Amino acid sequence: MKKLCLIIFLLLISGCTVKEKTKTIIEYENNYVVSINYPITNIKKLDNKIVKYINKEYNDFKKNNSNYNLELSELNINGSYDIVNDRYVKVYIEKYVYSNKVENFQNISFNFDIKKNKFVNDIGITEIKEKKCIKYTPSNKIINSNKKVIALTFDDGPSIYTESVLNVLNEYNARATFFVIGSKVKYYSDTLINLLDSGNEIGNHTYNHKLLSKLNDDELLNQINKTQEIIKEYTGFTPTLFRPSYGSIKKSQKSMIDLNIILWNVDTLDWKYKNSKVIANRALSKAKDGSIILMHDTHKRSVEALEIVLNELKGEYEFVTISELLKIRMLRSTNEE
Ligand code: ZN
Repeated sequence: MKKLCLIIFLLLISGCTVKEKTKTIIEYENNYVVSINYPITNIKKLDNKIVKYINKEYNDFKKNNSNYNLELSELNINGSYDIVNDRYVKVYIEKYVYSNKVENFQNISFNFDIKKNKFVNDIGITEIKEKKCIKYTPSNKIINSNKKVIALTFDDGPSIYTESVLNVLNEYNARATFFVIGSKVKYYSDTLINLLDSGNEIGNHTYNHKLLSKLNDDELLNQINKTQEIIKEYTGFTPTLFRPSYGSIKKSQKSMIDLNIILWNVDTLDWKYKNSKVIANRALSKAKDGSIILMHDTHKRSVEALEIVLNELKGEYEFVTISELLKIRMLRSTNEE
């Protein structure tokens, strides 16, 4: 009887027909849209908790998206609840966040114990599903095909020096291309996103730097595809460029690869020479319009050499990514026709 009374009481307070009673917040500003719909259960303690959760999500969203005012961001929350039995209420929250960096869908459900007035996770119906993917928005730098250009490329990273390379590039308003090793990507995803944000490019440099001529077809494709996938997963960017490890690849293997295979024409040998001035001079003595310079973002001396090179050539050249260089070559050749 007591149990029945409680059920009737619950039905009354939630109301069979007013079960869908919700509160809605809709906000539309220049750079974001917020749409929140959450249930009101009339169980005071539960409602307080839901409101607290909603407020936190809402404030986090506004905080995280205040900088991304170039593109519309969106927060969408939809909540509902079910009376499980005379003791438990199950609350469902669907959360969707979208910005130029993240698209994230969360499906959350949890149980509220009316008797103990608290949330419980031990009656076996709690689930959290999360899908996270990062969106990459390409920068639209204006390319001047008449200016002399150089494409700097950095292989074998990302590493602890990559962020320093980025800082030097930014200081000189220069861009570069980073041919990264797939197995390292997940440890430096923030750095790679920062690179892309500054207009740099990421290329594929195999998963773990194997000598490709020793691999069979499956192993070769695995090295490339695994790296494509992990770069996409952690940065949202899909490379179109491939540089074989050691710059070495068999002719028969080349035909199997869909990506643009990019080597270099100025080698700084920064892995061999330990002196940043020697490394910089190798670049400076050979650099000319259209050069592709090979360096490695895996040594401190390479960062120092980069600074010397940029300081020396800053007025004379524009430092572009490989894709930009390819575009410039195309523009120039069509202009010549
Ligand atoms: Zn390499």
